[in-house]
Amino acid sequence: MRYAILSDIHGNLEALRAVLDEARRRAVESYICLGDIVGYGANPNECLEMLLELSPATVLGNHDAAVCGREDLENFTPLAAQAIIWTRERIKLEGRAYLASLPLVRTIGNITIVHSNLSHPSDWRYIFSPGEALSSFDRLDRQACFFGHSHRPVVFRESEGWVDYVEEPIFHLVDGCRYLINVGSVGQPRDRDPRAAFAVFDQETGTVEIVRVEYPVGTAREKILDAGLPARLANRLLKGE
Ligand code: ZN
Repeated sequence: MRYAILSDIHGNLEALRAVLDEARRRAVESYICLGDIVGYGANPNECLEMLLELSPATVLGNHDAAVCGREDLENFTPLAAQAIIWTRERIKLEGRAYLASLPLVRTIGNITIVHSNLSHPSDWRYIFSPGEALSSFDRLDRQACFFGHSHRPVVFRESEGWVDYVEEPIFHLVDGCRYLINVGSVGQPRDRDPRAAFAVFDQETGTVEIVRVEYPVGTAREKILDAGLPARLANRLLKGE
């Protein structure tokens, strides 16, 4: 099975369209979503509808949890909270019910998926460094875990208790190693590359590729401004920050 693994779409319909076009070009057969489908962007309902047509295996993100009322706003920055309130007022009942039904962690064959981290998925702590990856490796009972949340693609590889980085954008899962793979963000990249990010995972060959695609950033930006959402949320898309 060949999967497209998407995270942090954040209501950015232009980015989601471009990613799905690229996934189809790469003959992807099935879809996985690592959460934060909504929040920040101007098209939460459209993104949910487009995604649900693909019947993805999905886990809950922190913005999803806040929008459907499973999480309150005190742990969000004022900027994020404003966008969550805006989204809460507009999200359709079916979309809200879908988000409310999502689990924090799922297992699919030899991989696990989670939004933030495996050690305490509901505390939404970030994994930025090999040291921060250790407690999630402790909980990992599969060869690889795909995650998101920081909006920065990064791959940690563990072998005999040591954790280092995989630098190559295409690599193979090697026996004896385990992996924590952050696929980056479809709708709001923060690694100073404004292109949308996602991963393609071929379960038979064990190949993982982090893919970047251009999309009409200007359109997504203008929609955020027209929606009356904070201008910072619009402008950050241009720089990928
Ligand atoms: Zn996010």
